[in-house]
Amino acid sequence: MTHSQILRRLGLADQPLGVAIGSRYSVGDGPAIPTYSPIDGAVLASVGSARSTEVDSATYAARDAFHRWRMVPAPARGELVRRFSLVLRDHKEVLGALVTLEVGKIRAEAEGEVQEMIDVCDFAVGLSRQLYGKTIQSERPDHRLMEQWHPLGPVGVISAFNFPVAVWAWNAALALVCGDPVVWKPSEKAPLCAFACHCLLQSVVASYDLAPDALSCVVNGGREVGQSLAASHDLPLVSATGSVAMGRSVGQVVAGRLGRSLLELGGNNALIVTPTADLDLALKAITFAAVGTTGQRCTTLRRLIVHYSIKDALVDRLKRSYDTIKIGDPQEEGVLIGPLIDEDAAVMMVHSLKEARAQGGTVYGGERLVEGMPSGAYVHPAIVEIRHDAPVVHKETFAPILYVMTYDDFEEAVAVQNEVPQGLSSAIFTGDVCEAERFCSASGSDCGIANVNIGTSGAEIGGAFGGEKDTGGGRESGSDSWKSYMRRATNTINYGHALPLAQGIQFE
Ligand code: NAD
Repeated sequence: MTHSQILRRLGLADQPLGVAIGSRYSVGDGPAIPTYSPIDGAVLASVGSARSTEVDSATYAARDAFHRWRMVPAPARGELVRRFSLVLRDHKEVLGALVTLEVGKIRAEAEGEVQEMIDVCDFAVGLSRQLYGKTIQSERPDHRLMEQWHPLGPVGVISAFNFPVAVWAWNAALALVCGDPVVWKPSEKAPLCAFACHCLLQSVVASYDLAPDALSCVVNGGREVGQSLAASHDLPLVSATGSVAMGRSVGQVVAGRLGRSLLELGGNNALIVTPTADLDLALKAITFAAVGTTGQRCTTLRRLIVHYSIKDALVDRLKRSYDTIKIGDPQEEGVLIGPLIDEDAAVMMVHSLKEARAQGGTVYGGERLVEGMPSGAYVHPAIVEIRHDAPVVHKETFAPILYVMTYDDFEEAVAVQNEVPQGLSSAIFTGDVCEAERFCSASGSDCGIANVNIGTSGAEIGGAFGGEKDTGGGRESGSDSWKSYMRRATNTINYGHALPLAQGIQFE
């Protein structure tokens, strides 16, 4: 499929792109932002952007849509999401191709991302009949005490470049069944993916008579557009995915107006390998988690904490495995590592490797690959043997750099795993059930995700996804994450003829 065929099949060739408020598309009054393919630097399109007044128009329209959508029964809201999941199934390949083109993911991972959208839609459809509240025993005679979950209002979604379709879907599928429209500010590095998702959803909205037009809005642009969303009183919830710096800013702005924010921020994920681990399994998991998506997942494995007795054997095998991985155009069969998103990312990788050397690290790999490559930022993934407390190890560099450090005692390994400011994902490879349980216990990993004998990345949608500390504390996707998208009302109903007060208070 050529680039223009992909855009045509996703409805992107027929619309001005920049701002979409339901079925109304415009280029927007903000500056045009060219979008490049990281594969070869080719300009894919020049996409317009929103001014703050257009962000306001989108949030007003979403608020209007909310007033109608909240009255539609939840299972009927689920029907919209069910239909959307069918459209996604029909467009899995072409939407995956756009993800590859716009952010450089290999085809398998790009289609996997669309599959994640389908999975979360299916989950949300089931959820639309299970937005349960509790009935609580009242202490008073002839009283009923219960809680209900009601739609909250339009949800603002700010997303990062590296999951240009799935992160929105995690939010949108749940928000829609919960009764909330969505106003999306995608990454300015991946606006085409956003407009493609919007067009696909809009095709379903247009043919569903219960759905108001502005259930979905997209406002393209940079951080100023994100800041307008964060400041909007029309959005009771802002779900923001990206760097810790972004989350600090958005979190403070939303808190300043006493809104709710759901923050999904950077990680610095570690994997502990103990002497009893199955090393074949560990090697596969480490490789996928460290170099998959070219090290650009929030859950990418960044720190390997290995028992000193097996470190040399494991690192040797890892280097051999790294040497055989095919790097190149992610559209090609057999390629497992595509380009970094842009030149800035490559510069940051070079800078961090320089810092690592200066802090005593020994670097293997990490070179820029030019020969035989298209003109994107292609790199060999790096393995760096270094002290666990070197400052560079404690920050997230969004590139395939794996820091390797050793431990002697299990408690020390857990302490090293927990000593960084971020708290997203973690894993242990062990054959010792006590170590596995201790790693998952209250005194074990302090992350939102703690895995045993699986890598740090590639979470299923059924669990709640997110992390602690600088990762922001938000939870999205499965389990009871839906509660963030609703408001809880506690109702006490007196069906008697007296007015007993709680706590036995007499007031006569
Ligand atoms: P980024 O922080 O540069 O940008 C993310 C989004 O925030 C973009 O849409 C950007 O325009 C917007 N933005 C930036 N500054 C803003 C501000 N001050 N106010 C409002 N909006 C602002 O991140 P990125 O480079 O696109 O993505 C990589 C980062 O995202 C990594 O740190 C990664 O770990 C993180 N991430 C986290 C998760 C998660 O679920 N925890 C998932 C994906 C990515």
